Amino acid sequence: MRLLIVEDEEKLAAFVAQGLEQQGFAAEVVLDGDEAMTRLERQTYSLVLLDLMLPGRSGVELLRWLRQRGETCPVMILTSRDGVEDRVQGLDAGADDYLVKPFALSELLARVRALLRRAEQRPPVRMEVADLRLDLEARRAFRGTKELALTPREFELLEYLLQHSPAVVSREMLARDVWRETSRFTPIHNVIDVQIARLRRKVDDPFDRRLLQTVRGVGFALREEKE
Ligand code: CA
Repeated sequence: MRLLIVEDEEKLAAFVAQGLEQQGFAAEVVLDGDEAMTRLERQTYSLVLLDLMLPGRSGVELLRWLRQRGETCPVMILTSRDGVEDRVQGLDAGADDYLVKPFALSELLARVRALLRRAEQRPPVRMEVADLRLDLEARRAFRGTKELALTPREFELLEYLLQHSPAVVSREMLARDVWRETSRFTPIHNVIDVQIARLRRKVDDPFDRRLLQTVRGVGFALREEKE
């Protein structure tokens, strides 16, 4: 599991990272808010440890931005300011827990484990392939930071393809599971092809990397093209 530590006190960040790594986690450290944003755009983390007072974007700004884009990973605030105000602001912005500095490493590790356990028990609320991301609760789709304007049917189709990714989905599967068409004689394949073409215009055409692949004679797959 990959964890991100956003903390401008280098020694503290290194100390926490080391503690997490000893527990078998991969821990990355960023020292300012802007770099944290870049990292979070590129990579999914199982948990984020977030200082509130940061150079660049503040922890609260970062947290609001993260939650606005549908990111549900657990976030624990680390703050030296033990004012109630800050904590409330952080929790309101979408933090799951907080720890006041200075803290014992053992307490931090225990809370990290608790948050990860809780997160595992939640049903999946997002799915992703490359930079394509679906927020299943809000029914919103993104490529990178750009939101895709999809119809409910297009969303459902994309969700189905993502569930099976990187495997190929046949037209028969789509007819049965997305269109819920059970009759063998309904000529629905054209409808599917038209819908796939429309989806491709939104999901792939404006972007560099193509994700929605046609596998001739078999069906469709959502995955990165092999070079
Ligand atoms: Ca700080």
